[in-house]
Amino acid sequence: AKGAGRNNYQFFDQRMNQAAARRFALESSLRGALANEEFELHYQPIIDTATRRLHALEVLLRWRRGGRDGGGVLVGPDEFIPILEENGMIVAVGEWVIRSACEQSMAWQALGLAAVPLAINLSARQFMHDGLVASIRRIVGATGIDPSLVEFELTETALMQHGGRTLDILRQINGMGMRLSIDDFGTGYSSLAYLKRFPVRKIKIDRAFVRELEASSEDRAIVAAVMALANSLQLSVVAEGVETEGQYELLRGHGCQFAQGYLFARPLPAAEAARLLVSSVLD
Ligand code: C2E
Ligand code: CA
Ligand code: CA
Ligand code: CA
Repeated sequence: AKGAGRNNYQFFDQRMNQAAARRFALESSLRGALANEEFELHYQPIIDTATRRLHALEVLLRWRRGGRDGGGVLVGPDEFIPILEENGMIVAVGEWVIRSACEQSMAWQALGLAAVPLAINLSARQFMHDGLVASIRRIVGATGIDPSLVEFELTETALMQHGGRTLDILRQINGMGMRLSIDDFGTGYSSLAYLKRFPVRKIKIDRAFVRELEASSEDRAIVAAVMALANSLQLSVVAEGVETEGQYELLRGHGCQFAQGYLFARPLPAAEAARLLVSSVLD
């Protein structure tokens, strides 16, 4: 028994080393990723449930590790954003995301395509960084984007980390004419008081509450409660992770105004997203 325990321990230790080695390798190749132009943006439609038409595009970061322009291996943000958050690179990469998304929007508009709002994710560390507001202001000035075409998505956790400065920063962003949404609503902070204090326009119901909507009366009760709360605070609601017509119908039935998920489209490379801006009807 003693021997088996020892083997288990060694096995565990080996796996720990593998995970650490993998992370180290990821971190060192991430260091050059920005300079090597290995990041790219994909765009996922958010649709208006009243018309089933495109309402906005969420901007989602991808890392084309070891190549650009279609080469390399595409890595998803869950694998590398935590590393960027930890080593602080998220500030520079996040700024690149905002600038590139605004440039893309201007390029699409120059082609005569529909001007659709872009929803850009801000991470906690990026939001805490003192230079954020100035950097957004610079990007607006340099690209000439209409600020009302930019929405920022922040999680409850990110909002709660900043203490007294949060309201000040949100007001400055709002003062530039940009909107704010609460991302992953319901998974983070346990108090709702902040909804009253912060200049927020939208909440995004996390996929965790949408996934089993058809089977779970508890999840339907949660969605109904979120809708009631949002209505009384005059917030609009986006449901994330909508994959089935059944989920979509239930959400529509609850009065949810916007929906996003594989039912409509996966996150798309810019060229494919552009095609939606020509037709902008999704089925
Ligand atoms: P998120 O902001 O909650 O983004 C939604 C995630 O759900 C995306 O994953 C999207 O591809 C995925 N998704 C959308 N519809 C469906 C669906 O119907 N089913 C399923 N199973 N998944 C769906 P993705 O692109 O892997 O991004 C993961 C997370 O990484 C994002 O979660 C966000 O927190 C973060 N992220 C992505 N891009 C950025 C960025 O530019 N900056 C920062 N700070 N974070 C980002
Ligand atoms: Ca988001
Ligand atoms: Ca989300
Ligand atoms: Ca999420």
